[in-house]
Amino acid sequence: MHIRTRFAPSPTGFIHLGNLRSALYPWAFARHNQGDFILRIEDTDVERSTQEAVDVIIEGMAWLGLDLDEGPIYQMQRIDRYRAVIKQMLDAGLAYPCYMSEEELNKLRDQQMANKEKPRYNGQWRPEPGKTLPAIPDGVLPVIRFKNPIGGSVIWEDAVKGKIEISNDELDDLVIARPDGTPTYNFCVVVDDLDMNITHVIRGDDHVNNTPRQINIMKALGGTPPVYAHLPTVLNDSGEKMSKRNGAMSVRDYQKAGYLPEAILNYLARLGWSHGDAEIFTKEQFVNWFDLGSLGRSPAQHNPEKLLWLNHQYIQNADPADLAEATKPFAHELGIDTENGPDFVQVVALLKDRANTLIEIAEGAKLFYLPAPAHNSEQIAENIPTEIIPAMKDLIKAIQSAEHTKAAYGAAFKEVLAKHQIKMPALAMPVRYALFATTQTPAIDSVLLVIGKNEAVARLSKVV
Ligand code: GLU
Repeated sequence: MHIRTRFAPSPTGFIHLGNLRSALYPWAFARHNQGDFILRIEDTDVERSTQEAVDVIIEGMAWLGLDLDEGPIYQMQRIDRYRAVIKQMLDAGLAYPCYMSEEELNKLRDQQMANKEKPRYNGQWRPEPGKTLPAIPDGVLPVIRFKNPIGGSVIWEDAVKGKIEISNDELDDLVIARPDGTPTYNFCVVVDDLDMNITHVIRGDDHVNNTPRQINIMKALGGTPPVYAHLPTVLNDSGEKMSKRNGAMSVRDYQKAGYLPEAILNYLARLGWSHGDAEIFTKEQFVNWFDLGSLGRSPAQHNPEKLLWLNHQYIQNADPADLAEATKPFAHELGIDTENGPDFVQVVALLKDRANTLIEIAEGAKLFYLPAPAHNSEQIAENIPTEIIPAMKDLIKAIQSAEHTKAAYGAAFKEVLAKHQIKMPALAMPVRYALFATTQTPAIDSVLLVIGKNEAVARLSKVV
């Protein structure tokens, strides 16, 4: 079987991480099986769909590296196809026009509620052998309803939830076209899944209730239903359904906050799927390992600390040149001219082990690109004890004659400390202050390596 999966978002607003997980799994399943992954934009809710939301989805997927084999395919561009299928179904007696007005429907519903029955369409306009339908009222445009099977049940083996059985008595005749002829949501999904030869529908479990209806329509159209895998919801860190209203961040927010796409991908992969106790893995490993059988059955809970921890792991293990490229936009945002000053790759290499985000790296880098501090005599007197001046003078000489390596600068310090019988902080703190007007810097020998011998000597010489 040639596997074909799809991600079918409705571009009606905010895209949070939970939404993108619904793209990640079908993508991974397609890649694992050398199949195809399709992006379908379900934009038939014209009022709420926006191009902006489509862009966010496409950008988010590209950022995570979820490549497409087909699409984006927009449902609004397939309206003629849906209309043609509706006509076929009418001609084949699989669907029928229903002229029940809104008021009648409401009345029916009220009656059913009063009788403590589940509100459902009563089949008034459903043609049956030997049945006389009411006279067609004047001036009423009908909806088109699907002739749902009567009796029996819809059964499917959900790849996540196991066997699900829904009695057909629970399902009334679904409206597949509105009075103005526009097709409805569940119907379009079926036509698309069939036309696109989708073999596996991997989607959020908020669609479980739609599935029996979709299977019935699919079978009526002569199609074979795909395998369904309904993913449990993603809850936020307080255990509520993730949504913008309760503070979920959008994919763009994570990008702007300095997260690496690799970390997000790894994090999302584990949000409802596992492979033994593997926590950190590459995208290739994820694709190799991905299977529907290891999807979790209970809701996954978003854990921002774990995401930050993973981001740190990825930053720490990243190649400094790649990391520098990724950090540049953040540095530029902070006004750092990365082309003017110490080698940015070296600066990033120096900072990456302690940073959780690219923003933290950029902030740490600022120090190295600021102009040399202009200390006044008062500041010097306050921060550089007079008794340390001789040691600093010796240090300047030792640095000048040292090789330009971290080890050599470290040795230069040691030599001066020994000669003057002082401890590292007594010398390193005033040196840091002289170099940067702060005592918060990474390891001093690495700092010298980054800013370079001449710059270090020049800055130190100004205070002694
Ligand atoms: N458009 C639906 C949504 O965004 C998904 C439909 C599907 O995957 O079948 O929730």
